[in-house]
Amino acid sequence: MTVQTQNGPHEAPDPLAAIGENIKACMQCGTCTGSCANSGAMDYTPRELWRMVQLGLSDEIFASKTFWLCSSCYFCTLRCPRGLPLTEAMAALKRLAIAQGKWKEKKSTKFYLTFLDNVRRYGRVREMDLMTRYFLSLKNPLTPMGFTPLGVKLMVKGKLSMQLPNLFSAGKLDALYRKVREVEGRS
Ligand code: SF4
Ligand code: SF4
Repeated sequence: MTVQTQNGPHEAPDPLAAIGENIKACMQCGTCTGSCANSGAMDYTPRELWRMVQLGLSDEIFASKTFWLCSSCYFCTLRCPRGLPLTEAMAALKRLAIAQGKWKEKKSTKFYLTFLDNVRRYGRVREMDLMTRYFLSLKNPLTPMGFTPLGVKLMVKGKLSMQLPNLFSAGKLDALYRKVREVEGRS
């Protein structure tokens, strides 16, 4: 893509290529996949994803749910024999997908965005609020019913707060988020 600068038209750096640069030393050993607790739910394993990034397979990467399912546990990063910044690369893919509108209306994306929204509101996750907002975003009244047995189990064990969400509250971290957007030139 060409962008206009003070010195005339310039080729904009390809953000996917920048992510690929950070993981170009991947030798496909599969340690990241073997370390990832979420890899079973991913459509491409982390090892496969890194190869796709190296090859610049943009369409396949952004149609995938793999990076949305990364929970940033850092285990792959700790164990990668090449010392690659894998968790950061997963986060960079999420940011790029959002910035370029390359995300599809799917459950994994909506859950991730709802999770981030919860952190912005409370500085932590409030399970009841998170699930309420997530179910509302799915716009399917039948979905919550499938989670009822799990919800009851969690409540019985005291793992789920009964505090009702305030759907219209302002976020505790709003100012911080605004500042970051400003620093990143996104405001
Ligand atoms: S652990 Fe590191 S080197 Fe091995 S496949 Fe994953 S990213 Fe590549
Ligand atoms: S940081 Fe993400 S990709 Fe890496 S092991 Fe954890 S969940 Fe899997």
